[in-house]
Amino acid sequence: MYDINKVRQDFPILSREVYGKPLIYLDNAATTQKPLCVLDAMREEYLNVNANVHRGVHYLSQQATDLHEAARETVRAFINAKSTSEVIFTRGTTEALNLVVSSFCDEFMKEGDEVIVSTMEHHSNIVPWQLQAAKKGICLKVIPINEKGEILMDEYEKLFTEKTKIVSVAHVSNVLGTINPVKEMIRIAHEHGVPFMLDGAQSTPHFSVDVQDLDCDFLAFSGHKMYGPTGVGVLYGKEDWLDRMPPYQGGGEMIDSVSFEKTTFEKLPFKFEAGTPDYVATHGLATAIKYMQDLGMDNIHAHEKMLTDYAMKRMKEIEDMRIFGEAEEKDAVVSFLVGNIHHLDMGTLLDRLGIAVRTGHHCAQPLMIRLGIQGTVRASFALYNTTEEIDTLVEGIKRVSKMF
Ligand code: PMP
Repeated sequence: MYDINKVRQDFPILSREVYGKPLIYLDNAATTQKPLCVLDAMREEYLNVNANVHRGVHYLSQQATDLHEAARETVRAFINAKSTSEVIFTRGTTEALNLVVSSFCDEFMKEGDEVIVSTMEHHSNIVPWQLQAAKKGICLKVIPINEKGEILMDEYEKLFTEKTKIVSVAHVSNVLGTINPVKEMIRIAHEHGVPFMLDGAQSTPHFSVDVQDLDCDFLAFSGHKMYGPTGVGVLYGKEDWLDRMPPYQGGGEMIDSVSFEKTTFEKLPFKFEAGTPDYVATHGLATAIKYMQDLGMDNIHAHEKMLTDYAMKRMKEIEDMRIFGEAEEKDAVVSFLVGNIHHLDMGTLLDRLGIAVRTGHHCAQPLMIRLGIQGTVRASFALYNTTEEIDTLVEGIKRVSKMF
């Protein structure tokens, strides 16, 4: 059903060597490789279609606009949004989160109001709130986690007060791999009359995310982590919220009419899309989504779950291994340290064996503080990885460990 050899042929970079060794790419949580179909689609658009979108009457502009708007429809269907008005193209997760934080705070939050985030957030779901805290005096409340790296649901419920205005939490932790119980968390937030923003950077590449089923109010994700190009991402928002939020940036594309006395704004989604969008990248993203859908999101998830379970089992064979993140629901990421070996040393020596992993705090320093460490080594899996690659990783870790 899932022909891994055929899949790997779609990604020529996987056949290259580094330091004379076959490349083993296990840094997929940072960014994924791109299949040929995505590269071909983008090259074809630049070669034969390129023109700025929306404003042109000429043939090429209309064709480019059609591709761009077809991409929006592909994204809409991918996350099961009700309407393309709810799909805003951004530069990535970071920009999507910043957009909501800034615009939501402007309209709905005042000094003393509270946002709930979790201990395992990426900096992009912490720092934008802190910027607002400095500007407006809003407060962050933090959901604690247990030793396995799971959210403490009882503590979550206790954080709500009459000042809570929004909850913003990662669907999947980029460090621990924990899949958070977001459907239940969203239900609880709504019981308190509070909207919920989901950081989907590490979920949308791995399994189906249905915004209507989850009932989230906002969802942010990045194209480059799901086999699409860099520089494009998505903000989904319920129309009712987006309609009431002010624009994030001003400029072309987002206005209805402008005079020095008064400016009126375009309807959704354009109100939030100032300036020329990366329309070639949106077409690339749509091509990546179709590639994943052709393989089947359930097949991708099953393959990656098999890899994660296999990696967890094999890594535990290694002496002095500490794995961070042992949640019941876990996805595609294994963070670890071995004995006293510094994460940077482990990463650098694995690199010499052709194995690409990430080291450091993974943009989650508050989580590192909670874990009492400076950083980890992180291996993260994608639809093209194999159990043989994990075997090579395990042998590599053992080799490095012996050297110390
Ligand atoms: N949130 C999470 C959970 C992430 O893993 C990342 C990327 N590491 C981001 C947000 C930010 O994504 P981007 O850099 O693509 O904007």
